[in-house]
Amino acid sequence: MRHRTKQFPIIVIVLFLFFGGLLSANAQKTKPKLEALTEETQKSSENQDKISFVWWIPTEFWRIALAEEKSLGKEDIEAFAAGMNAYTLICVVDMKGTIGSTTKASYRTEAELRPIVKLVDVQGTTYAPIPKAQISVIASTVIETMTPMLTSAIGTMGQGMHFFLFPANAKDGTPLADVSSNGLLKIKVGTDQYQWKLPLVSLLPLKICPVDSAEMQGDWKFCPHHGEKLIGKKEK
Ligand SMILES: [Zn+2]
Repeated sequence: MRHRTKQFPIIVIVLFLFFGGLLSANAQKTKPKLEALTEETQKSSENQDKISFVWWIPTEFWRIALAEEKSLGKEDIEAFAAGMNAYTLICVVDMKGTIGSTTKASYRTEAELRPIVKLVDVQGTTYAPIPKAQISVIASTVIETMTPMLTSAIGTMGQGMHFFLFPANAKDGTPLADVSSNGLLKIKVGTDQYQWKLPLVSLLPLKICPVDSAEMQGDWKFCPHHGEKLIGKKEK
């Protein structure tokens, strides 16, 4: 049985993310980082004739998004992040057919997607989504709250957005996809494949050019302007 009262802070957090934090101007510090992370974790289909994409939502996303929100208690944020940290969360939109082949775009339903969505972890093991009945209250509340919000926020494509949860770790304890370690995460949707080279660049600490102290992308080794070896920001 689900405990109704427990869901309240989670729903507040999710509502805040979509109608507050992500859009609010006062999240100055975290906004660029959150935008970079969102961009890096969303991949579009290589097939240009369809509107299909996969969004991998790592736990860091919630931590960054909620970091500057003072109205939420630290305990609520931590409980929420810990609850989501038990899973690898993936959002899938998959268009049926191609652009122009039908008069109205339609998207695969949750039931159509579930058997064809697979995750291939950094060790090469393939996983199917965890059945809904086995998902925790926190995670299922997030999904149940986000789905109708996205539908109303972005229309038809929102109706095609479906969330799938995979385990956080393999049986040997290795994360399926660690944002800060080397590896490759793949999501298969039928014959389409989406992949992320890890670590995620948007989460790496920035580097500094020794010539003009300009901030550089964390995975760069040399300054593209001066050719000098970049230094870690903390060594400055
Ligand atoms: Zn430089």
